[in-house]
Amino acid sequence: MAKGTIQIDREKCKGCHLCVAFCPRHCIVVSQGINDKGYFPAELKEPGEDGKGCTGCAVCALVCPDIAIEVYRE
Ligand code: SF4
Ligand code: SF4
Repeated sequence: MAKGTIQIDREKCKGCHLCVAFCPRHCIVVSQGINDKGYFPAELKEPGEDGKGCTGCAVCALVCPDIAIEVYRE
């Protein structure tokens, strides 16, 4: 399985959480803290004990309306 990671720009994120809903690996969560605009941004969750994590599929980046996500593939 391909491995990847993402970087979410907390300050660009408007907290719509489309990426949380669409990630097929469920590896994006809602942050506990707000950003400077007052939104709860999305953040990458560490892989669980089952080792399932980001594959670098880029679905999150495609659905993000604010172009706040960069995807990296290993
Ligand atoms: S889709 Fe983009 S703007 Fe929406 S929560 Fe995710 S990173 Fe933030
Ligand atoms: S690149 Fe794919 S697997 Fe990784 S966080 Fe985004 S939607 Fe999820």
